[in-house]
Amino acid sequence: ALAYGIYYFSFIVNTTEEKLRFQAEHDLLTGILNRNTIVKILVSNIAGNQNRMIAIIMTDIDHFKRINDRHGHLVGDEVLKAVTRFLGISLREGDSLGRFGGEEFIMVLPGCHLSAALGVAERIRRLVADTPVSTSAGDIKVSMSFGVAVMQSGWSEDSEALINRADKALYSAKNNGRNRVEYA
Ligand code: GH3
Ligand code: MG
Ligand code: MG
Repeated sequence: ALAYGIYYFSFIVNTTEEKLRFQAEHDLLTGILNRNTIVKILVSNIAGNQNRMIAIIMTDIDHFKRINDRHGHLVGDEVLKAVTRFLGISLREGDSLGRFGGEEFIMVLPGCHLSAALGVAERIRRLVADTPVSTSAGDIKVSMSFGVAVMQSGWSEDSEALINRADKALYSAKNNGRNRVEYA
């Protein structure tokens, strides 16, 4: 639904001003939100929803460098775009998805508790691991690691601290063998 939303939005963008705004808020390669924008969304969710919990999921492609080394950067880009679609279709309305860095993504899930967020991450993990990406160099198997963190309602934690926790969890997922979900 989200991938469709992105497509639809880019379709209805008409004026130059709207185009510039879209470009400023989105990642050129994947079409999803860029880092600045997704962090802003997280910050405003934290400020506006003190009585609601917020979950974030950080995810990073496993051994992505190998894919680039073996097949070239352009095929790597194709993989990035395909992975973005997997992430997008797995989210609900009200959730947001952004590109945090090279092959690292962040999802913001307002009102989502830990077990639900772990369920979402696990569902995406399995989808990615079970679905080879079709590229111009043939089908490529991809896996991703996930770090989940949840801010309970009433907690006073800022966006940076929450992202740091998710990042630590992601780091554990990498250290514990990759293609897995951890939380912190
Ligand atoms: P790990 O499982 O520990 O995450 O290993 P990794 O190889 O995925 O991690 P590493 O940080 O060593 O490599 C990330 C690679 O992602 C290196 C960089 O060249 C590549 N990368 C970053 N942005 C892009 C991009 O936009 N397109 C392509 N094709 N590659 C990119
Ligand atoms: Mg990686
Ligand atoms: Mg990375």
